[in-house]
Amino acid sequence: MRAVRITRTGGPDVLDLVDAPIPSPGPGQVLVRHAAIGVNFIDTYHRSGLYPVKLPSGLGMEAAGTVEAIGEGVDRFAPGDQVVYASGPIGAYAEYNAVPADRAVKIPPGVTPDLAAAALLKGMTAEFLLRRCYPLQPGETVLVHAAAGGVGQILVQWAKAIGAVVIATAGGADKLARVKALGADHLIDYREQDVAAEVRRITSGAGVPVAYDSVGAATFEGTLGSLTRRGLFVSFGNASGPAPPVEPGRLSRMGSLYFTRPTLFDYVATTAELDASAAALFEVIASDAVRVEIGQTFPLGEVRRAHEALESRATVGASLLIP
Ligand code: NDP
Repeated sequence: MRAVRITRTGGPDVLDLVDAPIPSPGPGQVLVRHAAIGVNFIDTYHRSGLYPVKLPSGLGMEAAGTVEAIGEGVDRFAPGDQVVYASGPIGAYAEYNAVPADRAVKIPPGVTPDLAAAALLKGMTAEFLLRRCYPLQPGETVLVHAAAGGVGQILVQWAKAIGAVVIATAGGADKLARVKALGADHLIDYREQDVAAEVRRITSGAGVPVAYDSVGAATFEGTLGSLTRRGLFVSFGNASGPAPPVEPGRLSRMGSLYFTRPTLFDYVATTAELDASAAALFEVIASDAVRVEIGQTFPLGEVRRAHEALESRATVGASLLIP
């Protein structure tokens, strides 16, 4: 099979397409023949070394396709089932992957493998952020950064479905227009405008009770300055580089703020949590409350181009690799 490998960390040029044996499913595993592979920002962190992986390594956490074979003891799926997985093991950038059966979910009727691979990782992230990390209430105002991106678009729509008021940031007029079309109430071009000042203006000085920040270094101060008393800073990504250290005394001085740095994998740690999160996501997709945009599709062999696009802010919505 064709598979992406890295033997060293670095820029997109370290991504190599190689011939590799098709894995055989071990006990508890299923072999999935991929129809679509989800591209996520975390893949760039694995590639660059920001999140260390043991080398040599495959890449990619998310794919959808057909169960070709099952390992010993698997009763969750049968060959022929359409499944999607989003929490590794790393190696989704390939034609096949052997994954633990209890880390995959069945694709519901009416959902294509492309949509499933575009939606699962980013959508379960939105699910845990809005419903469990901070249980967002109708009428509350929320700040969502990078709102035209894969996770961002889902966050905006799901927050609106909950009944929240959404302040969304993105870079440039085109991306902001897309975010507006998704239902965002207030728009901030964070490449041009002062985020905290805008949020204070929009909220009549109050600030927001929760801010979802996946941009990291570049947005840190603006996010901190946008929170209301006892507000929650949810730092969940590093698109511009990691957020700086947080001094506890600053949280105190700025209004007894809370700070959390969550990761999806701790919110879908058990199979029951995974199934519940995926079910909630497929429900908002089925009801049309959330539409997942597949903004870009690349052949697997053009994986370098896919990473270049994602890291140069040239993408909108989700990106797929097609094997
Ligand atoms: P996106 O599609 O959101 O792409 C990242 C976006 O971030 C860009 O399009 C860009 O939008 C914005 N951005 C701002 N500054 C930069 C920069 N310096 N370089 C590149 N992009 C920048 O990616 P994903 O949907 O895959 O992921 C979004 C974020 O969520 C990532 O940070 C990811 O790590 C995080 N994440 C965290 C999870 C968790 O469990 N903690 C799970 C899933 C995702 P613009 O042009 O509008 O600025």
